[in-house]
Amino acid sequence: MNSKNILIVGAGFSGVVIGRKLAEQGHKIRIIDKRSHIAGNCYDARDEKTKVMVHTYGPHIFHTDNKDVWDFIQQFSTMMPYTNRVKATYNGKVFSLPINLHTINQFFNRTCSPNEARKLIKEKGDDSISDPKTFEEQALRFVGKELYEAFFKGYTIKQWGMSPTELPASILKRLPIRFNYDDNYFNHKYQGMPKDGYTDMIEKISKHENITVELNVEYGSEERKSYDHIFYSGPLDAFYEYRFGRLGYRTLDFEKFTFDGDFQGCAVMNYCEQQVPYTRITEHKYFSPWETHEGSVCYKEYSRACGENDIPYYPIRQVGEMALLEKYVDLANSEKGITFVGRLGTYRYLDMDITIAEALKTADIFLDSIRVNNEMPVFTVDVR
Ligand code: FAD
Ligand code: UDP
Repeated sequence: MNSKNILIVGAGFSGVVIGRKLAEQGHKIRIIDKRSHIAGNCYDARDEKTKVMVHTYGPHIFHTDNKDVWDFIQQFSTMMPYTNRVKATYNGKVFSLPINLHTINQFFNRTCSPNEARKLIKEKGDDSISDPKTFEEQALRFVGKELYEAFFKGYTIKQWGMSPTELPASILKRLPIRFNYDDNYFNHKYQGMPKDGYTDMIEKISKHENITVELNVEYGSEERKSYDHIFYSGPLDAFYEYRFGRLGYRTLDFEKFTFDGDFQGCAVMNYCEQQVPYTRITEHKYFSPWETHEGSVCYKEYSRACGENDIPYYPIRQVGEMALLEKYVDLANSEKGITFVGRLGTYRYLDMDITIAEALKTADIFLDSIRVNNEMPVFTVDVR
């Protein structure tokens, strides 16, 4: 077998999964990351004082319908049962999210059955919007003005820094609306949390005799000639030193505080009013319900525009950003010997399961390309 020398930029899920699959086929893999730790934004670590597992870059819940991905991760970690049940504070009251029969009955002070609630929400919805394009239209059409203004309008303005009239309907479509008391935040078949955390899982994925991992190492273009191929999971615009300008992102600030006891009694409490400056408070011990902790670690989460020295979290993908993306993609498509992957390399919001599925697919495409002597594509997914 013709063993290839491969550089992978980024030790998040994208980088380590590709690295692992190729290492298993005998290729030599060097993974570098500019941070001082592996796992990218999925990094977690125990708080020294309380021993609570803290999701350093914000809460991460694993949920998927993809059995291959679910089976893949379980080779490296025991997945513990966890169901995300989110609460929301609005106008001095606590409600259940995503909108379900409990929310509807609480909010309208009713005792509706599923059919009655369906009828009520249909009456509230604005039928004159036949083809909702924006976030606001989607909300007005399917939940009506009152629920939209209570739970979505203020939160979304805080989260995205713009009016829901400027955002696509697709963002709201991520959330279900249910006419029963099911308050599971996700619709996916599999959901859970890694018993010893994501950092531990990712470390195990990267542990292979053909893989070396180096931290505090930033990619430099002089590296290129030493490798048969590069997989790059850093930001696409950074690779080109932002020559056309910066792709827009939202970043997050986390105000960490500890609490002696139980702060809010659940993992995630959203604050939907615009005048409350943060979007949510997360209480991290509730992400590991199989553990017991006296003390507690919480994050107050604030969203704002991403500056030059901030960590890019959510790609904005508005019309302006998409035009800029087009320019970078055209430039990248003229490259040889490099593939852009992951949420930053392809400028898309990707959940962990999609990230892993795409990484597995990318590794397969690479193995096929060397088997039949084809050019490896610069992108293995449609990024536009
Ligand atoms: P990353 O994890 O960002 O890894 C990229 C790595 O590349 C980083 O470590 C970075 O340091 C490194 N890098 C960048 N540039 C360079 C360079 N020039 N040189 C060297 N290294 C470089 N997904 C879920 O499924 N469930 C959730 O509940 C969930 N919650 C989330 C909450 C928040 C707040 C955010 C922002 C995301 C959430 N996600 C969630 C998505 C999840 O974080 C991503 O799917 C995942 O991190 C993508 O992995 P990646 O390897 O593509 O990117
Ligand atoms: N959202 C909202 N109110 C909430 C929760 C979510 O308005 O209480 C909106 C917000 O615009 C968010 C989108 O719904 O970006 C999708 O919600 P999700 O929980 O999937 O957000 P994410 O995980 O991306 O933070």
